[in-house]
Amino acid sequence: MTARIIDGKARAERATAEIKVQIAARVAAGKPPPGLAVVLVGEHPPSQIYVRNKRRMTQAVGMKSFEFDLPGTVSQHELLTLIGRLNTDTEVHGILVQLPLPKEIDADVVTESIDPAKDVDGLHPYNMGRLVLKRPALRPCTPEGCMTLIRDTGENLVGKHAVIIGQSNIVGRPMALELLMARCTVTICHSATRDLPAIVGTADILVAAMGRLAFVQGAWIKPGAIVIDVGTNRTPEGKLRGDIDFETARERAGWITPVPGGVGPMTIAMLLANTLRAAQAIDGA
Ligand code: NAP
Repeated sequence: MTARIIDGKARAERATAEIKVQIAARVAAGKPPPGLAVVLVGEHPPSQIYVRNKRRMTQAVGMKSFEFDLPGTVSQHELLTLIGRLNTDTEVHGILVQLPLPKEIDADVVTESIDPAKDVDGLHPYNMGRLVLKRPALRPCTPEGCMTLIRDTGENLVGKHAVIIGQSNIVGRPMALELLMARCTVTICHSATRDLPAIVGTADILVAAMGRLAFVQGAWIKPGAIVIDVGTNRTPEGKLRGDIDFETARERAGWITPVPGGVGPMTIAMLLANTLRAAQAIDGA
């Protein structure tokens, strides 16, 4: 079997085109454009690239982009003061603080300082709690993007065994909650999991979010499985690749996302969707 490729780039372009139309209609109706504030602290090169892409896309769909590039020496107090200001700024509907933060700053305190109504990353305990309770508000972007791609396969998800590799707050845990809500039977694996290949071999849906270059071998994968590769790793040659060994996996999977061009573009599209939702909820539009 050769897997069908799930084209996340094309899907994200469709999603952002729809968002652009909705924003134009909103502005034509006299509402302000949604505003997204993206805060970058320090000079972490991958974060600089992510932030640049997020800001570019924010402007491309007609949103207002508020940019804050703070030096790595900024204090936690200064960062919290900025967030407090953004929380009350009526032009700002979404606030994103790019992670990771310098180790002197407590990322949990920063995340919890964002107004949950503007928490477009969906990582505030309020929004996480809503997801746990099956009453989602603003949802974490990467898992929501993965769910869109999984649903696009058209397969019936009810009762499928979904295996997630990784249990981070950003990806693995909310991904498990999303798949549970879709009525999958969910297994979460992490670095203490025993016999990972055997568990992967039972997955109708596999989501790899571990950050280990080409770790998951094609031979582990259940024939016909939906395979979603969240990992972003650099090869020694500097190429971007996932956690799945793509060439062997595509021979067994039914569906597979490439890296690049899979989950990554969807994460940004879901961030924009969340910002529009936040603006609609805040302005009552
Ligand atoms: P993370 O916080 O480092 O978590 C990695 C997870 O993988 C942990 O739960 C860890 O287990 C588990 N793990 C590591 N080695 C393992 C092994 N040998 N066997 C089983 N589990 C293992 O990473 P993250 O923030 O979730 O990100 C994961 C990957 O996704 C990274 O490559 C990141 O760059 C990428 N990512 C991509 C996007 C996107 O939009 N495309 C968005 C977010 C993240 P323990 O908990 O036991 O340590």
